[in-house]
Amino acid sequence: MQVNGLKDRAQDLRKSFIDSLEEDIRDFLINEAELHTYDDLTKVNPVTPSTVLKCLQARYSAKVFYTHAGCTLVALNPFQPIPDLYSLDVMREYHSAPQPQEFKPHIFIVAEEAYRNVQGQVEPMNQSLVYSGESGAGKTWTSRCLMKYYATVAASSQKCQDTVEKIERRVLGSNPIMEAFGNACTLRNSNSSRFGKYIQLQLNGSVLLSLRFTHEHEPEMMKGATGKQRLEWMLPLDQDFAWLPHAEKTLEEDCLQETVEAMINLGIDESKRTQIFRILAGLLQLGNVDFRPALEEAQTCDLDEHSKGTADLLQVPLDELQSCLTVRTLRAGKQNVLKLCSQSECSVRRDCLAKVIYAQLFDWLVTFINNSMCADRSMWCNFIGLLDVYGFECFLLNNLEQLCINYANEKLQQHFVAHYLKAQQEEYVTEGLQWSFIRYQDNQGCLDLIEGSPSSIFSLLNEECRLNRASDAKQFCVRLQKELSHNASISWDKFSKQPHFTVAHYADKVSYQIEGMMEKNKDPVPPELISLLQNSQDSLLHSLFADGDHESEGLRGHSKVVTVISKFRNSLESLMKILHSTTPHYTRCIKPNPDCRPLTFKREEVITQLEACGIVETINISAAGFPISNQAVLGSAVEDVLNVVLKRRASNSTLSPDDNNNMVHCGRTKVFLTHSLLEMLEVHRNRVRSQKAFC
Ligand code: ATP
Ligand code: MG
Repeated sequence: MQVNGLKDRAQDLRKSFIDSLEEDIRDFLINEAELHTYDDLTKVNPVTPSTVLKCLQARYSAKVFYTHAGCTLVALNPFQPIPDLYSLDVMREYHSAPQPQEFKPHIFIVAEEAYRNVQGQVEPMNQSLVYSGESGAGKTWTSRCLMKYYATVAASSQKCQDTVEKIERRVLGSNPIMEAFGNACTLRNSNSSRFGKYIQLQLNGSVLLSLRFTHEHEPEMMKGATGKQRLEWMLPLDQDFAWLPHAEKTLEEDCLQETVEAMINLGIDESKRTQIFRILAGLLQLGNVDFRPALEEAQTCDLDEHSKGTADLLQVPLDELQSCLTVRTLRAGKQNVLKLCSQSECSVRRDCLAKVIYAQLFDWLVTFINNSMCADRSMWCNFIGLLDVYGFECFLLNNLEQLCINYANEKLQQHFVAHYLKAQQEEYVTEGLQWSFIRYQDNQGCLDLIEGSPSSIFSLLNEECRLNRASDAKQFCVRLQKELSHNASISWDKFSKQPHFTVAHYADKVSYQIEGMMEKNKDPVPPELISLLQNSQDSLLHSLFADGDHESEGLRGHSKVVTVISKFRNSLESLMKILHSTTPHYTRCIKPNPDCRPLTFKREEVITQLEACGIVETINISAAGFPISNQAVLGSAVEDVLNVVLKRRASNSTLSPDDNNNMVHCGRTKVFLTHSLLEMLEVHRNRVRSQKAFC
């Protein structure tokens, strides 16, 4: 046994030695001095993780932040403003160029391609720009940049300067509001998105729609308030708020002013703004409410002085607020039974009250923004959708929030894999093309684990919540092991004392703690809290809860519990449906170092992200594949035409006419062209067109 083990080990060592030697030889073949000039990673030869990394590093050192990777774009975060990269002049250059693809790689090329496609004469189709990447990689930055680009493009077709400014203010104005309400300072990004947004831009009228699918944090913008506002909102300067991080003050001061201006631009009048800020101030006060344990069993917990401030700001009766937070109403048959809450139960109810108010306020804002941008939905035609979601997350402690966020990222990765990799390879086979398969990481197994049926993490969690029994993390952990251990994407660390499970996501392994997960999934809103808010004298707060369709613990039967997971999954499903009906353009945002330091490239950090998003497989398929297929043209006639074009081109370039063999293939029903060939044909067509125009 031992000898065999040693033999195996020796063989392994030999293999890894040969592998690394081969890698070294391959790397040696690459001309290092030229690496930064490779605009498309498909041109790096050979394509290995190490050569791709070297190329990106060389470009980063040369302050080149965008690189094509076949059908996708890689964006490296410089972590410092690069003024000339996004100027109006640069936007105009890309927009007016007959062939923007011939310019340096840039997010504006992707933007322009989508813009031309959506307005295409032959077959206009809805477009989606999807940016993925981990937290802090630059997705929201990219989204802002694209909105500015489209606002500029849309405005440039308007003659009246007033209209131009109005379009820009409105399109861009939603950003500071959404970010002020939906972002939070996390360990990985000081302005991290805590909600997903899909913005649809209809460009002839500059219409904008924002579609949210989850959020969970408190606002961070109260420090910029003036003295008078502080008095009105009960925010003394020396007061610390439990729900506010100690972020840099200047940033928040700017932020409040910017948010107010954006609100004005969107038409939120002064009285509504005051109401919004007063409600937010009420939430900050609520965050500071503490509970002193009851002295005797028959007494309620005592609330401190912050409850008075909360009641004043939310305009609800103080005694009602106090009893809502400390007494639970249970339904026993047709009777209501009152039960005093423990100190920790009171805190849960306090957090629950804040969350439900915040969620309704956020929804109200999204609806307001949509209405202010898009007056008549029946006028809608084709759109460009910009998808900015929270990046993949892995903290020391992860719970339901991270599971949902990482699940959303898995879905997007699957969309990418299905769209570019799987579909393409399967089509080649159907069409009878000679194709040596490139292996790629399919994340279906991981998605089955999370959301599949009959048994998955989601189904088991939901079942547990519907049973409505006191949840036991250890028991649930045993159940997961029993039902899901056949799936290779889940594991358990034998040495961990806490009940947990580890999921092998496409990006990384993440351990989730089970303690508290069931409660978070139930997320019940006690009915007393809803009726408290319905009785508020503040007309905005009252209207947020007036329609009575808020799910609350007591109002819904147990069998109909709508869990956080179910809601999240439904809104993600509807988003995926929209995505599937559009032509996607993927941008992979990369965070070059974990500390957000300017112009710092950490190889280990970058390689993990490149591997996680399968960039090498993408490049290989793009380099070897034929991303362009056309059903309309059939037969060898096409090849003849292409031959002529190629021969002509060959006379004044290094291209050999034989290259045709690798650039075009006729399948059973389609003709397949490589990107480079298509580019050549486009250039040729434009030349012919301009010659004709000249004649
Ligand atoms: P999360 O998933 O946490 O929301 P994210 O991917 O949206 O993260 P961003 O907030 O867009 O990350 O970017 C983080 C920070 O990186 C920005 O605040 C900005 O300072 C910087 N940054 C990103 N892209 C660029 C860029 N192209 N040029 C300069 N700075 C950038
Ligand atoms: Mg973001």
